Amino acid sequence: MIFISAFFLGAIVGSFLNVCIYRLPKKESILSPPSHCPHCGKPIKFYDNIPIVSYLLLGGKCRHCKGHISFRYPVVEGLSGLLSLALLMKYGLTVQSLLLFLFSAALIIITFIDLDYQIIPDSISIPGIFLGIGASFLIPLVSWIESIFGILIGGGFLFLVAIGYKWLTGREGMGGGDVKLLAMVGAWLGWKAIPFILFSSSLIGVLVGGGSGLISKRGLRAKIPFGPFLSLSSIIYIFFGPELINWYITW
Ligand SMILES: [Zn+2]
Repeated sequence: MIFISAFFLGAIVGSFLNVCIYRLPKKESILSPPSHCPHCGKPIKFYDNIPIVSYLLLGGKCRHCKGHISFRYPVVEGLSGLLSLALLMKYGLTVQSLLLFLFSAALIIITFIDLDYQIIPDSISIPGIFLGIGASFLIPLVSWIESIFGILIGGGFLFLVAIGYKWLTGREGMGGGDVKLLAMVGAWLGWKAIPFILFSSSLIGVLVGGGSGLISKRGLRAKIPFGPFLSLSSIIYIFFGPELINWYITW
């Protein structure tokens, strides 16, 4: 029962994350008006707003105008539910699980906004940095000193990469949003996580970027957002980071 509830509560939060992903970049309020169809504007009734289930029952269409509802809504709900469940299984019913879920939720919002708009909203990353320092007092994962150094090393490293790239090529390569995102990740996971996250996100970035470079007309100059890779690597670190680092060192 606890596992089912964890998944379902996570999916309900996911439904709210969808609202944030849709409205934050448009600078709309995330609280009002209540959820409505993007096509006909009719409010969505609570029984049509059950995560994943409603999407399947309605066949991905609005009840009133039959307008197409993006498949991404149930995907975000499912992701959020799975993360909630996985955190409960890994860390138990603890404050740590709850706080890491909050962090993961922020990463989901950032990932999907970055995919759509190639921006990472300051309204998530900057409060995220301060919440990360606060969380370090409550969770045993990192001390507050590791958290502060995480901000400085994470944000500082990407800041140097950004100005270095601009100096070498005269073009903007890495956005300031990525700098603030890695500072936020450092605040939550501590400085020791930074090398792993940089290595992992670069590796995923090279694979995905190389793949899309082959397809895209712009080749390797095609723009790809880096936020999703940083976010995915942070999630991997939450679950397997120390084990992967140990494995790498022994190997
Ligand atoms: Zn509609």
